[in-house]
Amino acid sequence: MKYIMVTGGVMSGLGKGITSASIGRLLVDMGYKVIPIKIDPYINIDAGTMNPFQHGEVYVLKDGTEVDLDLGHYERFIGIELTGEHNITTGKIYRNVIEKERKGEYLGQTVQIIPHITDEIKSWIRRVAKNSGAEICLVEIGGTVGDIEGMPFLEAIRQMKNEEKPEDFLLVHVTLVPLDSSGEQKTKPTQHSVKELRSIGLQPDVIVGRCKRKLEEGTKKKISLFCDVPIEAVISAEDAFDIYEVPLMFKEEKLDDYIISKLKLEKREANDEWEKMVNKLRNLEKEITIAVVGKYIDVQDSYLSIREALKHAGIEAGCKVKINWIDSGDLEKTSKVEIDADGILVPGGFGKRGAEGKMKAIEFARENDIPFLGICFGFQLAIIEFARHVIGWSDANSSELAETEHAVIDLLPEQKGVDKMGGTMRLGDIEVTIKQNTIAHKLYNKEKVFERHRHRYEVNPEFIPEFEKHGLVFSGYSDNGRRMEIFEYPKNKFFFGTQFHPEFKSRPYSPSPPFLGFVKSALGVDL
Ligand code: GLN
Repeated sequence: MKYIMVTGGVMSGLGKGITSASIGRLLVDMGYKVIPIKIDPYINIDAGTMNPFQHGEVYVLKDGTEVDLDLGHYERFIGIELTGEHNITTGKIYRNVIEKERKGEYLGQTVQIIPHITDEIKSWIRRVAKNSGAEICLVEIGGTVGDIEGMPFLEAIRQMKNEEKPEDFLLVHVTLVPLDSSGEQKTKPTQHSVKELRSIGLQPDVIVGRCKRKLEEGTKKKISLFCDVPIEAVISAEDAFDIYEVPLMFKEEKLDDYIISKLKLEKREANDEWEKMVNKLRNLEKEITIAVVGKYIDVQDSYLSIREALKHAGIEAGCKVKINWIDSGDLEKTSKVEIDADGILVPGGFGKRGAEGKMKAIEFARENDIPFLGICFGFQLAIIEFARHVIGWSDANSSELAETEHAVIDLLPEQKGVDKMGGTMRLGDIEVTIKQNTIAHKLYNKEKVFERHRHRYEVNPEFIPEFEKHGLVFSGYSDNGRRMEIFEYPKNKFFFGTQFHPEFKSRPYSPSPPFLGFVKSALGVDL
């Protein structure tokens, strides 16, 4: 097994996830099987309980594990599907060790960070790598070198470095190369972060320097000299016009060649599927604007997969998708909502704040026949809006938001009275059946699909006949017809909602069908 470890220095938010995913892509293009693992040194067991305001989107894997958005980059770049095994957190490691200790497995020893926690980390990485059948395991260590939380993980990989053969282990360090006021590239922060790494016994093999501009030859030379890596192992990662350019940028820097030779792998002819996709993306001529109405719009990473899925659909449909982020709270304050966009999307969400504003946007889309896509909470709010204004139940609501007679969105009977916060969420891949002769069927061209879920509430089965009487079509369902998964409204061009999150399965070279339908319809082309 070959291991590529990726650490970060200087500060967070340098795009370590994109760097790792791009390295993965380069290797996959050469036909290697790559398995990524993301280490998040926080104590939470998973990202499920984390606030998107702080952390960006919660990404959902097929097995229902809720993870950091970097795992989404891995799935999109590398083209694989991951599970909870591929995300290690401090919480998970300590939980395992404490469980073993309680069972007496440590035979009376004092249980310590070294060796017990570090052993648990190493054995987790090796187990997942081995079980995957991959040739290369890519491990990204979240956080920044020097963080207290990250220490046990860095110590574990230091031990691994000694235990593995030199040609089986490669350490990539991602750092920042800032510009000073005269525009000169400064290498001191990089030097310091490498010094920090060395103080814990790790020496990088490759340094990726994030900078606004391409690293100059002189800058590379300096980093090479001070940080003791060959100049061809100093890789420039300047700001890209799009994240999907990064693998191509690395290729130009010959990072693939360097990795291959260091790990003693054979150089293989690379597939150009990715490059073709990026060329298409670069040359899109048309442009559409999609209004995304949400409550976390100041933190655009909160809707990262939505943004990517719109982009993917645009590549296929032949248009750039410009996003106009609209704060649902602001819409609540306006009496007459007008949104100037080719399409309106209401994404997932929780709780009361901004919900009425989102419904105003939905009403505007429905009444003016503007293409609309509602996802999860957006799907539920569209049902409520329809009940209020088409059926005429002015008190219609979701029992998540208010108590009412017309709880058109509700918990199913077996969920009622169960602890609301943890454990009751319906998560991950669930099979959805699609009705024939519907838009949904036209888009998916299949009768059974698997899509990812993250919700508690459902369309209340009691009211379904009334919706159907008023022209709403439930074109997808699950759980033997007990749960509604897709609605469409044939009276409009495209008024469509999904209880699941199609954005998590969208890929740059194979867009999600609901997104493609939405973007095409916003572009004014036939589905
Ligand atoms: N709050 C809604 C529910 O729990 C929708 C969740 C979501 O949009 N992810 O069902």
